[in-house]
Amino acid sequence: MEKKYDVLMVGGGIVGMSLASLLAESSLKVALLDASLPFKREPSSRNDRMLVLAHSSQVILDSMKIWREISQAVTPIRKVHISDKGHFGSSQITAEEERVPFLGYVVSAQKLLAVLQVSINNNPLIDVFQPVKFKSVDYGKNTLLVVAESDSTDLQLTGRLLVAADGQDSAVRNFLNIKNISHDYQQVAITCQVDLKRPHQCVAYERFTEQGPLAFLPLSNQQAAVIWTVSSRQANQLLALEKKNFLKLLQTSFGYRLGKLTDCSQPIPVSLQLVTVRQQVFPRTVLLGNAVHTLHPVAGQGLNLAFRDMAVLGEIISLAVKENKDIGCIEILERYLKQRESDQQQIIALTHSLVSLFSNSLLPVVLARGFSMVMLDRMEWIKKILAKRMLGLGGNVPRLACGLPINE
Ligand SMILES: Cc1cc2nc3c(=O)[nH]c(=O)nc-3n(C[C@H](O)[C@H](O)[C@H](O)COP(=O)(O)OP(=O)(O)OC[C@H]3O[C@@H](n4cnc5c(N)ncnc54)[C@H](O)[C@@H]3O)c2cc1C
Repeated sequence: MEKKYDVLMVGGGIVGMSLASLLAESSLKVALLDASLPFKREPSSRNDRMLVLAHSSQVILDSMKIWREISQAVTPIRKVHISDKGHFGSSQITAEEERVPFLGYVVSAQKLLAVLQVSINNNPLIDVFQPVKFKSVDYGKNTLLVVAESDSTDLQLTGRLLVAADGQDSAVRNFLNIKNISHDYQQVAITCQVDLKRPHQCVAYERFTEQGPLAFLPLSNQQAAVIWTVSSRQANQLLALEKKNFLKLLQTSFGYRLGKLTDCSQPIPVSLQLVTVRQQVFPRTVLLGNAVHTLHPVAGQGLNLAFRDMAVLGEIISLAVKENKDIGCIEILERYLKQRESDQQQIIALTHSLVSLFSNSLLPVVLARGFSMVMLDRMEWIKKILAKRMLGLGGNVPRLACGLPINE
Protein backbone atom coordinates (compact mmCIF):
# COMPACT_ATOMS: atom_id res chain seq x y z
CA MET A 1 0.00 0.00 0.00
CA GLU A 2 1.28 3.48 -0.90
CA LYS A 3 1.15 6.15 1.83
CA LYS A 4 1.46 9.91 1.23
CA TYR A 5 3.59 12.34 3.26
CA ASP A 6 5.19 15.76 2.92
CA VAL A 7 8.64 14.65 4.12
CA LEU A 8 10.26 11.22 4.03
CA MET A 9 13.04 11.08 6.61
CA VAL A 10 15.45 8.16 6.20
CA GLY A 11 17.37 7.66 9.46
CA GLY A 12 15.95 8.10 12.93
CA GLY A 13 19.12 8.90 14.87
CA ILE A 14 19.46 12.10 16.91
CA VAL A 15 19.54 14.27 13.77
CA GLY A 16 16.65 12.58 11.91
CA MET A 17 14.36 12.58 14.96
CA SER A 18 15.17 16.22 15.78
CA LEU A 19 14.37 17.44 12.27
CA ALA A 20 11.18 15.33 12.10
CA SER A 21 10.02 17.01 15.33
CA LEU A 22 10.86 20.46 14.01
CA LEU A 23 9.11 19.95 10.65
CA ALA A 24 5.95 18.72 12.34
CA GLU A 25 5.78 22.16 14.02
CA SER A 26 5.11 23.53 10.51
CA SER A 27 2.15 21.13 10.21
CA LEU A 28 4.04 18.88 7.78
CA LYS A 29 3.28 15.17 7.75
CA VAL A 30 6.51 13.23 8.21
CA ALA A 31 7.36 9.53 7.75
CA LEU A 32 10.46 8.50 9.67
CA LEU A 33 12.14 5.29 8.51
CA ASP A 34 14.85 3.62 10.55
CA ALA A 35 16.76 0.38 10.09
CA SER A 36 17.19 -0.40 13.78
CA LEU A 37 14.71 -1.92 16.22
CA PRO A 38 12.63 0.59 18.21
CA PHE A 39 14.86 2.27 20.78
CA LYS A 40 14.54 0.69 24.20
CA ARG A 41 14.79 2.98 27.18
CA GLU A 42 17.35 1.39 29.45
CA PRO A 43 18.94 2.58 32.69
CA SER A 44 21.98 4.73 31.95
CA SER A 45 25.17 2.75 31.70
CA ARG A 46 28.87 3.57 31.93
CA ASN A 47 29.13 2.40 28.31
CA ASP A 48 26.86 5.18 26.96
CA ARG A 49 28.49 7.60 24.48
CA MET A 50 28.80 11.02 26.08
CA LEU A 51 28.38 14.09 23.87
CA VAL A 52 29.13 17.76 24.44
CA LEU A 53 26.22 19.97 23.44
CA ALA A 54 27.44 23.49 22.66
CA HIS A 55 25.58 26.49 24.07
CA SER A 56 23.87 27.01 20.67
CA SER A 57 22.57 23.40 20.62
CA GLN A 58 21.11 23.87 24.10
CA VAL A 59 19.24 26.99 22.93
CA ILE A 60 17.97 25.13 19.83
CA LEU A 61 16.68 22.21 21.95
CA ASP A 62 15.14 24.68 24.38
CA SER A 63 13.36 26.47 21.51
CA MET A 64 12.07 23.05 20.42
CA LYS A 65 10.70 22.56 23.98
CA ILE A 66 12.64 19.38 24.67
CA TRP A 67 15.50 20.80 26.73
CA ARG A 68 13.62 20.58 30.03
CA GLU A 69 13.53 16.78 29.80
CA ILE A 70 17.18 16.59 28.75
CA SER A 71 18.39 19.07 31.35
CA GLN A 72 17.72 16.61 34.16
CA ALA A 73 20.60 14.47 32.93
CA VAL A 74 23.31 16.94 31.89
CA THR A 75 26.54 18.18 33.48
CA PRO A 76 27.31 21.81 32.59
CA ILE A 77 30.75 22.98 31.39
CA ARG A 78 31.98 26.19 32.99
CA LYS A 79 35.48 26.22 31.60
CA VAL A 80 37.51 24.47 28.89
CA HIS A 81 41.19 24.00 29.67
CA ILE A 82 43.41 23.33 26.64
CA SER A 83 47.02 22.14 27.01
CA ASP A 84 49.81 20.38 25.15
CA LYS A 85 51.44 17.61 27.22
CA GLY A 86 55.15 18.13 27.83
CA HIS A 87 55.27 21.54 26.12
CA PHE A 88 54.85 25.10 27.33
CA GLY A 89 51.57 26.95 26.90
CA SER A 90 47.97 26.39 27.86
CA SER A 91 44.76 28.27 27.31
CA GLN A 92 41.32 28.57 28.85
CA ILE A 93 37.89 29.52 27.59
CA THR A 94 35.38 30.40 30.31
CA ALA A 95 31.61 30.86 30.31
CA GLU A 96 32.06 34.08 32.27
CA GLU A 97 34.30 35.64 29.60
CA GLU A 98 31.95 34.50 26.86
CA ARG A 99 28.95 35.90 28.78
CA VAL A 100 26.94 32.68 28.55
CA PRO A 101 25.58 30.66 31.51
CA PHE A 102 27.68 27.63 30.45
CA LEU A 103 29.95 26.86 27.50
CA GLY A 104 28.14 23.59 26.90
CA TYR A 105 26.65 20.51 28.53
CA VAL A 106 27.66 16.84 28.66
CA VAL A 107 24.82 14.41 28.03
CA SER A 108 24.57 10.78 26.96
CA ALA A 109 23.46 9.99 23.40
CA GLN A 110 21.01 7.49 24.95
CA LYS A 111 19.28 10.23 26.93
CA LEU A 112 18.93 12.43 23.84
CA LEU A 113 17.51 9.51 21.82
CA ALA A 114 15.07 8.60 24.61
CA VAL A 115 13.69 12.16 24.94
CA LEU A 116 13.40 12.57 21.16
CA GLN A 117 11.63 9.24 20.80
CA VAL A 118 8.96 10.21 23.34
CA SER A 119 8.41 13.52 21.53
CA ILE A 120 8.13 11.71 18.15
CA ASN A 121 5.78 9.02 19.46
CA ASN A 122 3.47 11.67 20.93
CA ASN A 123 3.29 13.60 17.66
CA PRO A 124 0.26 12.71 15.48
CA LEU A 125 1.97 14.23 12.41
CA ILE A 126 4.88 11.76 12.52
CA ASP A 127 4.61 8.08 11.54
CA VAL A 128 7.56 5.89 12.49
CA PHE A 129 8.43 2.81 10.40
CA GLN A 130 10.95 0.63 12.18
CA PRO A 131 12.83 -1.59 11.51
CA VAL A 132 12.83 -0.86 7.77
CA LYS A 133 15.78 -0.40 5.43
CA PHE A 134 15.87 2.18 2.66
CA LYS A 135 15.95 0.37 -0.70
CA SER A 136 15.31 2.87 -3.52
CA VAL A 137 13.90 6.24 -4.53
CA ASP A 138 12.14 7.25 -7.75
CA TYR A 139 11.55 10.87 -8.68
CA GLY A 140 8.35 12.10 -10.37
CA LYS A 141 7.58 15.67 -11.43
CA ASN A 142 6.36 16.97 -8.07
CA THR A 143 6.74 13.96 -5.81
CA LEU A 144 9.09 11.09 -5.05
CA LEU A 145 8.55 7.47 -4.13
CA VAL A 146 10.69 5.68 -1.55
CA VAL A 147 10.72 1.89 -1.27
CA ALA A 148 11.93 0.40 2.00
CA GLU A 149 12.46 -3.20 2.96
CA SER A 150 10.67 -4.51 6.01
CA ASP A 151 10.38 -8.07 7.37
CA SER A 152 7.17 -9.00 5.60
CA THR A 153 6.72 -6.84 2.52
CA ASP A 154 8.21 -3.78 0.82
CA LEU A 155 6.90 -0.45 2.06
CA GLN A 156 6.12 2.30 -0.49
CA LEU A 157 5.85 5.90 0.62
CA THR A 158 5.44 9.05 -1.43
CA GLY A 159 6.49 12.54 -0.39
CA ARG A 160 7.62 15.92 -1.64
CA LEU A 161 11.02 15.97 0.08
CA LEU A 162 13.50 13.22 1.00
CA VAL A 163 15.90 13.87 3.90
CA ALA A 164 18.81 11.44 4.21
CA ALA A 165 19.89 11.39 7.87
CA ASP A 166 21.02 7.78 7.72
CA GLY A 167 24.53 8.16 9.08
CA GLN A 168 28.13 7.82 7.92
CA ASP A 169 27.48 4.98 5.43
CA SER A 170 24.26 6.57 4.11
CA ALA A 171 22.29 4.12 1.97
CA VAL A 172 20.48 7.02 0.26
CA ARG A 173 23.82 8.61 -0.64
CA ASN A 174 25.08 5.30 -2.06
CA PHE A 175 21.85 4.64 -3.98
CA LEU A 176 21.98 8.09 -5.60
CA ASN A 177 25.67 7.58 -6.38
CA ILE A 178 26.60 10.79 -4.56
CA LYS A 179 30.38 10.91 -4.34
CA ASN A 180 31.82 11.30 -0.88
CA ILE A 181 35.35 12.35 0.04
CA SER A 182 36.71 10.36 2.93
CA HIS A 183 39.95 10.61 4.84
CA ASP A 184 40.95 7.80 7.18
CA TYR A 185 42.75 9.36 10.16
CA GLN A 186 44.26 5.93 11.00
CA GLN A 187 43.20 6.83 14.53
CA VAL A 188 40.81 5.30 17.03
CA ALA A 189 38.84 7.13 19.71
CA ILE A 190 38.84 5.09 22.92
CA THR A 191 35.96 6.13 25.16
CA CYS A 192 35.34 5.21 28.80
CA GLN A 193 34.21 6.76 32.08
CA VAL A 194 36.58 7.27 34.99
CA ASP A 195 36.13 7.87 38.73
CA LEU A 196 38.08 10.86 40.03
CA LYS A 197 39.73 11.50 43.36
CA ARG A 198 39.20 15.29 43.04
CA PRO A 199 36.03 17.16 41.98
CA HIS A 200 36.15 18.42 38.38
CA GLN A 201 34.30 21.67 39.16
CA CYS A 202 32.58 21.54 35.77
CA VAL A 203 35.85 21.98 33.86
CA ALA A 204 36.40 20.10 30.58
CA TYR A 205 39.99 19.32 29.61
CA GLU A 206 41.38 18.99 26.10
CA ARG A 207 44.95 17.76 26.34
CA PHE A 208 47.08 17.22 23.24
CA THR A 209 49.38 14.29 23.96
CA GLU A 210 52.04 12.55 21.82
CA GLN A 211 49.51 9.79 21.16
CA GLY A 212 46.74 12.22 20.13
CA PRO A 213 44.06 14.47 21.68
CA LEU A 214 42.74 13.40 25.09
CA ALA A 215 39.47 14.89 26.42
CA PHE A 216 38.08 14.64 29.96
CA LEU A 217 34.45 15.78 30.17
CA PRO A 218 32.79 16.43 33.54
CA LEU A 219 30.02 14.03 34.65
CA SER A 220 27.93 13.76 37.80
CA ASN A 221 29.15 11.78 40.85
CA GLN A 222 32.77 12.93 40.51
CA GLN A 223 33.29 11.10 37.25
CA ALA A 224 34.57 12.11 33.81
CA ALA A 225 33.94 10.84 30.30
CA VAL A 226 37.20 10.16 28.48
CA ILE A 227 37.74 10.39 24.72
CA TRP A 228 41.31 9.35 23.98
CA THR A 229 42.39 9.50 20.36
CA VAL A 230 45.37 7.29 19.50
CA SER A 231 46.80 5.62 16.38
CA SER A 232 45.13 2.36 15.36
CA ARG A 233 48.28 0.42 16.40
CA GLN A 234 48.38 2.06 19.85
CA ALA A 235 44.67 1.42 20.27
CA ASN A 236 45.21 -2.33 19.84
CA GLN A 237 47.93 -2.24 22.50
CA LEU A 238 45.84 -0.14 24.94
CA LEU A 239 42.74 -2.28 24.51
CA ALA A 240 44.71 -5.45 25.22
CA LEU A 241 45.85 -4.12 28.62
CA GLU A 242 44.41 -5.12 31.97
CA LYS A 243 42.25 -2.40 33.50
CA LYS A 244 44.82 -1.30 36.10
CA ASN A 245 47.57 -0.92 33.45
CA PHE A 246 45.22 0.96 31.10
CA LEU A 247 44.31 3.33 33.95
CA LYS A 248 48.01 3.84 34.77
CA LEU A 249 48.80 4.89 31.18
CA LEU A 250 45.74 7.12 31.04
CA GLN A 251 46.89 8.80 34.26
CA THR A 252 50.40 9.34 32.85
CA SER A 253 48.98 10.95 29.71
CA PHE A 254 46.45 13.16 31.49
CA GLY A 255 48.45 14.01 34.62
CA TYR A 256 47.09 14.73 38.10
CA ARG A 257 44.91 17.84 37.53
CA LEU A 258 41.92 15.80 38.75
CA GLY A 259 43.88 13.77 41.30
CA LYS A 260 44.22 10.00 41.07
CA LEU A 261 41.99 8.16 38.59
CA THR A 262 40.55 5.42 40.80
CA ASP A 263 38.53 3.25 38.39
CA CYS A 264 37.28 3.11 34.81
CA SER A 265 34.61 1.41 32.72
CA GLN A 266 35.38 -0.95 29.81
CA PRO A 267 37.17 1.11 27.08
CA ILE A 268 35.22 1.20 23.78
CA PRO A 269 37.00 1.86 20.43
CA VAL A 270 35.60 3.84 17.45
CA SER A 271 37.62 4.20 14.18
CA LEU A 272 37.85 7.78 12.98
CA GLN A 273 37.29 9.20 9.51
CA LEU A 274 36.45 12.51 7.94
CA VAL A 275 33.60 12.04 5.47
CA THR A 276 32.21 14.94 3.42
CA VAL A 277 30.27 15.16 0.15
CA ARG A 278 30.76 17.41 -2.86
CA GLN A 279 27.03 18.08 -3.23
CA GLN A 280 24.44 17.91 -0.43
CA VAL A 281 21.22 19.21 -2.00
CA PHE A 282 19.45 17.93 -5.11
CA PRO A 283 15.91 18.45 -6.38
CA ARG A 284 13.63 17.01 -3.63
CA THR A 285 16.60 15.65 -1.65
CA VAL A 286 18.89 16.89 1.12
CA LEU A 287 21.60 15.08 3.11
CA LEU A 288 22.00 15.83 6.82
CA GLY A 289 24.04 14.84 9.90
CA ASN A 290 26.72 12.17 9.58
CA ALA A 291 25.42 11.38 6.07
CA VAL A 292 26.82 14.73 4.91
CA HIS A 293 29.70 15.37 7.33
CA THR A 294 31.26 12.88 9.70
CA LEU A 295 33.95 14.66 11.72
CA HIS A 296 36.81 13.75 14.04
CA PRO A 297 35.49 14.11 17.63
CA VAL A 298 38.47 16.27 18.70
CA ALA A 299 36.41 19.38 19.42
CA GLY A 300 32.99 17.72 19.86
CA GLN A 301 31.52 19.45 16.80
CA GLY A 302 29.74 16.83 14.61
CA LEU A 303 26.32 16.85 16.23
CA ASN A 304 26.47 20.53 17.13
CA LEU A 305 27.06 21.41 13.48
CA ALA A 306 24.20 19.10 12.43
CA PHE A 307 21.85 20.80 14.94
CA ARG A 308 22.58 24.19 13.33
CA ASP A 309 22.03 22.70 9.84
CA MET A 310 18.75 21.21 11.05
CA ALA A 311 17.62 24.51 12.61
CA VAL A 312 18.21 26.45 9.38
CA LEU A 313 16.61 23.76 7.19
CA GLY A 314 13.56 23.80 9.50
CA GLU A 315 13.48 27.62 9.30
CA ILE A 316 13.61 27.72 5.49
CA ILE A 317 11.05 24.95 5.02
CA SER A 318 8.72 26.59 7.53
CA LEU A 319 8.92 29.83 5.53
CA ALA A 320 8.25 27.93 2.28
CA VAL A 321 5.12 26.39 3.87
CA LYS A 322 3.96 29.83 5.00
CA GLU A 323 4.48 31.23 1.49
CA ASN A 324 2.78 28.21 -0.08
CA LYS A 325 5.92 27.16 -1.97
CA ASP A 326 7.03 23.66 -2.94
CA ILE A 327 9.24 22.44 -0.02
CA GLY A 328 11.18 20.08 -2.32
CA CYS A 329 12.14 22.52 -5.05
CA ILE A 330 15.84 23.08 -5.56
CA GLU A 331 15.63 26.88 -5.03
CA ILE A 332 14.46 26.32 -1.44
CA LEU A 333 17.17 23.72 -0.76
CA GLU A 334 19.86 25.90 -2.31
CA ARG A 335 18.78 28.77 -0.08
CA TYR A 336 19.41 26.45 2.89
CA LEU A 337 22.83 25.49 1.59
CA LYS A 338 23.84 29.10 0.98
CA GLN A 339 23.17 29.90 4.64
CA ARG A 340 25.02 26.86 5.95
CA GLU A 341 28.06 26.41 3.70
CA SER A 342 30.37 28.85 5.47
CA ASP A 343 29.79 27.43 9.01
CA GLN A 344 30.17 23.87 7.68
CA GLN A 345 33.44 24.64 5.88
CA GLN A 346 34.92 26.49 8.86
CA ILE A 347 34.06 23.76 11.38
CA ILE A 348 35.40 21.01 9.10
CA ALA A 349 38.63 22.99 8.54
CA LEU A 350 38.99 23.82 12.27
CA THR A 351 38.51 20.19 13.33
CA HIS A 352 40.80 18.78 10.63
CA SER A 353 43.59 21.28 11.29
CA LEU A 354 43.45 20.69 15.06
CA VAL A 355 43.99 16.96 14.41
CA SER A 356 46.84 17.61 11.94
CA LEU A 357 48.55 20.22 14.12
CA PHE A 358 48.39 18.28 17.36
CA SER A 359 49.15 14.83 15.96
CA ASN A 360 52.57 16.03 14.83
CA SER A 361 55.70 15.69 16.97
CA LEU A 362 58.14 17.49 14.62
CA LEU A 363 59.97 20.21 16.59
CA PRO A 364 58.89 23.26 14.48
CA VAL A 365 55.28 22.14 14.71
CA VAL A 366 55.56 21.59 18.47
CA LEU A 367 57.11 25.06 18.87
CA ALA A 368 54.45 26.60 16.65
CA ARG A 369 51.63 25.10 18.67
CA GLY A 370 53.21 26.03 22.03
CA PHE A 371 53.55 29.54 20.65
CA SER A 372 49.95 29.57 19.44
CA MET A 373 48.72 28.46 22.90
CA VAL A 374 50.54 31.40 24.52
CA MET A 375 49.35 33.73 21.76
CA LEU A 376 45.83 32.40 22.20
CA ASP A 377 45.67 33.73 25.74
CA ARG A 378 47.28 37.03 24.74
CA MET A 379 45.40 37.78 21.58
CA GLU A 380 41.92 38.02 22.91
CA TRP A 381 40.30 38.49 19.55
CA ILE A 382 41.70 35.20 18.12
CA LYS A 383 40.46 33.38 21.23
CA LYS A 384 37.07 35.04 20.81
CA ILE A 385 36.73 33.77 17.22
CA LEU A 386 37.70 30.25 18.32
CA ALA A 387 35.39 30.40 21.33
CA LYS A 388 32.48 31.64 19.18
CA ARG A 389 33.00 28.67 16.85
CA MET A 390 33.09 26.26 19.82
CA LEU A 391 29.91 27.82 21.23
CA GLY A 392 28.27 27.49 17.81
CA LEU A 393 27.72 31.24 17.62
CA GLY A 394 30.06 32.05 14.72
CA GLY A 395 28.81 33.55 11.45
CA ASN A 396 25.15 33.31 10.48
CA VAL A 397 23.41 32.05 13.67
CA PRO A 398 20.08 30.19 13.15
CA ARG A 399 16.98 31.86 14.64
CA LEU A 400 16.36 28.90 16.94
CA ALA A 401 19.91 29.19 18.32
CA CYS A 402 19.08 32.81 19.27
CA GLY A 403 15.98 31.63 21.15
CA LEU A 404 13.68 33.09 18.46
CA PRO A 405 10.64 31.27 17.03
CA ILE A 406 11.28 29.39 13.77
CA ASN A 407 9.79 32.27 11.75
CA GLU A 408 8.14 35.63 12.44
C1 LIG B 1 33.73 9.15 20.03
C2 LIG B 1 32.82 10.22 19.49
C3 LIG B 1 32.49 11.30 20.28
C4 LIG B 1 31.66 12.31 19.78
N1 LIG B 1 31.41 13.39 20.57
C5 LIG B 1 30.67 14.40 20.07
C6 LIG B 1 30.41 15.56 20.86
O1 LIG B 1 30.87 15.67 22.00
N2 LIG B 1 29.65 16.56 20.32
C7 LIG B 1 29.16 16.50 19.04
O2 LIG B 1 28.52 17.46 18.59
N3 LIG B 1 29.37 15.40 18.28
C8 LIG B 1 30.09 14.35 18.76
N4 LIG B 1 30.29 13.22 18.00
C9 LIG B 1 29.58 13.12 16.70
C10 LIG B 1 28.14 12.63 16.87
O3 LIG B 1 28.14 11.39 17.55
C11 LIG B 1 27.46 12.50 15.49
O4 LIG B 1 27.59 13.72 14.83
C12 LIG B 1 25.98 12.16 15.59
O5 LIG B 1 25.79 11.01 16.35
C13 LIG B 1 25.40 11.94 14.19
O6 LIG B 1 24.05 11.58 14.29
P1 LIG B 1 23.20 11.16 13.00
O7 LIG B 1 21.77 11.08 13.46
O8 LIG B 1 23.53 12.00 11.83
O9 LIG B 1 23.75 9.70 12.60
P2 LIG B 1 23.58 8.30 13.31
O10 LIG B 1 23.62 8.43 14.78
O11 LIG B 1 24.58 7.39 12.67
O12 LIG B 1 22.11 7.82 12.91
C14 LIG B 1 21.81 7.28 11.65
C15 LIG B 1 20.48 6.54 11.73
O13 LIG B 1 20.17 6.05 10.42
C16 LIG B 1 19.69 4.71 10.51
N5 LIG B 1 20.01 4.02 9.24
C17 LIG B 1 21.20 3.64 8.77
N6 LIG B 1 21.08 3.02 7.58
C18 LIG B 1 19.77 3.02 7.29
C19 LIG B 1 18.99 2.51 6.19
N7 LIG B 1 19.56 1.87 5.16
N8 LIG B 1 17.65 2.68 6.21
C20 LIG B 1 17.04 3.31 7.26
N9 LIG B 1 17.72 3.79 8.32
C21 LIG B 1 19.07 3.67 8.34
C22 LIG B 1 20.45 4.12 11.70
O14 LIG B 1 19.71 3.04 12.26
C23 LIG B 1 20.53 5.31 12.66
O15 LIG B 1 19.45 5.38 13.56
C24 LIG B 1 31.11 12.21 18.47
C25 LIG B 1 31.43 11.10 17.69
C26 LIG B 1 32.29 10.13 18.18
C27 LIG B 1 32.62 8.96 17.29
